Amino acid sequence: MSLTDYKQKRNFKKTPEPKGKENSKKISKKRIFVVHEHNASHHHYDLRLEMKGTLKSWAVPKEPPTEKGTKRLAIAVEDHPLLYAKFEGEIPKGSYGAGTVKIWDEGNCDLIKKTSKEIEVEFHGKKLKGKYVLIKTSYGSTEKQKKKSWLFFKV
Ligand code: MN
Repeated sequence: MSLTDYKQKRNFKKTPEPKGKENSKKISKKRIFVVHEHNASHHHYDLRLEMKGTLKSWAVPKEPPTEKGTKRLAIAVEDHPLLYAKFEGEIPKGSYGAGTVKIWDEGNCDLIKKTSKEIEVEFHGKKLKGKYVLIKTSYGSTEKQKKKSWLFFKV
């Protein structure tokens, strides 16, 4: 797990986001998750799951499903520091991800299964409750897009 990409994309003199070096502080005994609502150039949601000391993150273009039957595309993005789970604020114009970040849901979760192509978790949030899966897919027109695309849905 590495925060190299996270740090490279940001100028911490300008953005109020947590610095990468704060990564190692575990903020809860239990595994945590957060979903940020990110009103950036494109409004989207960011799903973040605690894994091995960082937040594995996916950008979800539409609201995460709270019921079975809706599949959402989830695009893998750079790992974020654990402290990011508490972040809300305004990323200034001109910065990476400029716009408003709010917590849409948060809580603990249990990791049920994890392979390179499938992650199953049980969420204990306010909106996300119960078992969900992330399944690797190959959606997109470029190799880079295909590599990063997953499907996210409730089971
Ligand atoms: Mn985002």
